[in-house]
Amino acid sequence: MSHCALPLLPEQDDHEYELSDYEGARARWCPGCGDHSILAAVQKLLTQEQLVPEQTVFVSGIGCSSRFPHYLKTYGFHGIHGRALPVATGIRLHRPDLTVFVVMGDGDCTSIGAAHWVHALRYNPDLVVLLLDNGIYGLTKLQTSPTTPQGFPTNTQPHGSLLPPIDPLQVALGVTNASFVAQTAEWAPAHLFATLRAAYRHKGLSFVRILQRCPIYAGPVYQKLVTDPARIALLLHEDGVMVPELGKLYANHVAHDPHDIHAARRLAADRDHINIGLFFVDPSRPRYEEIRRVAPRTAAERVALLNKELDRYAV
Ligand code: SF4
Repeated sequence: MSHCALPLLPEQDDHEYELSDYEGARARWCPGCGDHSILAAVQKLLTQEQLVPEQTVFVSGIGCSSRFPHYLKTYGFHGIHGRALPVATGIRLHRPDLTVFVVMGDGDCTSIGAAHWVHALRYNPDLVVLLLDNGIYGLTKLQTSPTTPQGFPTNTQPHGSLLPPIDPLQVALGVTNASFVAQTAEWAPAHLFATLRAAYRHKGLSFVRILQRCPIYAGPVYQKLVTDPARIALLLHEDGVMVPELGKLYANHVAHDPHDIHAARRLAADRDHINIGLFFVDPSRPRYEEIRRVAPRTAAERVALLNKELDRYAV
């Protein structure tokens, strides 16, 4: 009797991943969309940190930004509207060996997904959560989202958005047990990358709001911020996000200790400037996957329990 020997797989430790190892389908976002810049920064992060593609997962909901998993050669789950965080939390709990990223838009995260967002922050699983905030529903072509600036005309509120927008930073900083809250902008790629790297290296849920331009439906939303750097202030601290090469472009600097939650909340509420950087970090905050008590089970025991549960619905 003969048998074929399987070819030996290359030792994972010896393999150096290149940018092309992470590039998926060609991105179909509009020309000039800020999502392109964010994708490039994420691919750079994956390459620099040498994340193993088959041990990395991107989970998204619905919206323009939620096409993210298609454009990466990792595992991906393009889910349903507002439900990216429960899916990602489930993956995290059952496969702690995987690195899990979540990509959501402002409608996805702060509207239909708001309850999941708040409770995920509190549960603090080890996830990198990116809110790509363009201040509009872009995929469905110009409806008011919770972060649309007051007075901005949309298809659903043609005389201007009626209410002041929700502030994702103030919400996140108000949630018990939130452990990492940062803000950056896609048109400052060095700052974006440094923020993503800090988020990835944090243990716990890293929430990063990324100001993201939608030139098709919401061009004016960030236009003044892009053209006038004086409207932006850099939060600086050795434990925060430091990008010295941006110091001249963004001349407003705020020394901020990101371990100070009260100062973080004050800075989030600041309306004189848009502050970018790390607002808050506390790696000692409990992570749900570490503190929950689950008796270890064999695969056979898990299958038996699953069958028992499914039998409850047998007709
Ligand atoms: Fe980007 Fe806006 Fe186009 Fe969507 S509609 S892909 S957010 S520019």
